[in-house]
Amino acid sequence: MIWPVALTVLGLFIGSFLNVCIHRIPRCESIVWPASHCPKCLTPIRPWDNIPVLSYLFLLGKCRSCSAKISLRYPMVEILSALLCISLYLRFGLSPEFLIYYVWVCILLVITFIDLDYQIIPDSLSIGGIILGLIAVFWLPLSYKTALIGLALGSGLLIAIIYGYYFLTKRQGMGGGDVKLLGMIGVFTGWEGVLFTIFCASLIGSVVGVTWVIIRKKGMLAAIPFGPFLSLGAIVYVLWGAKIINWYLGYIS
Ligand SMILES: [Zn+2]
Repeated sequence: MIWPVALTVLGLFIGSFLNVCIHRIPRCESIVWPASHCPKCLTPIRPWDNIPVLSYLFLLGKCRSCSAKISLRYPMVEILSALLCISLYLRFGLSPEFLIYYVWVCILLVITFIDLDYQIIPDSLSIGGIILGLIAVFWLPLSYKTALIGLALGSGLLIAIIYGYYFLTKRQGMGGGDVKLLGMIGVFTGWEGVLFTIFCASLIGSVVGVTWVIIRKKGMLAAIPFGPFLSLGAIVYVLWGAKIINWYLGYIS
């Protein structure tokens, strides 16, 4: 029991750091300095007010100094980070794969929330992730060749989809950020992961898109970014991809 508990706590604290990254990276601020402060009144947050989830509940979601509302996203990212940490531990055990995929999932989480807010994917995360993946691949259950094919297929396929979509609709659906993101996903998952991610992201993206249009009764959806769906698809692949593919193959035969 000690490891699951320790990893949950670790996941929560790392989630707290991811919140800092999500807030500061798009503003081009340092992620290590200065210490956390309230974005409204700039009062430094005291250590006992900075405990993941618990402080949010204790302060009823408000800054202690100025009572500005703290977004529900903060505890949400912390809980997501802990859940993913535990899920990866259950999938890989305590191993180099677990550690590398957790770092990768953290990058995807940060990308997801920055993309939702700003419709951008910072190069420091996507290209940084590609470089990290090319170094870490030696400890992953992938060959170097598979990772490179994943990188080429991921970015190539998305460039083809963007051009195809533009050719058919004369509109730009996705951007260069998504190209680099899927390339980065390909390094960590290989070509099978790229195909699974595109399939899964399109499926979930369509369901969410259609629901959004029905609820909002708006015409087309220009503002829903694709990065979060790609990230979600990639995480599903690493956690349950093999099981889903086996189930599907059994189902069709
Ligand atoms: Zn404040």
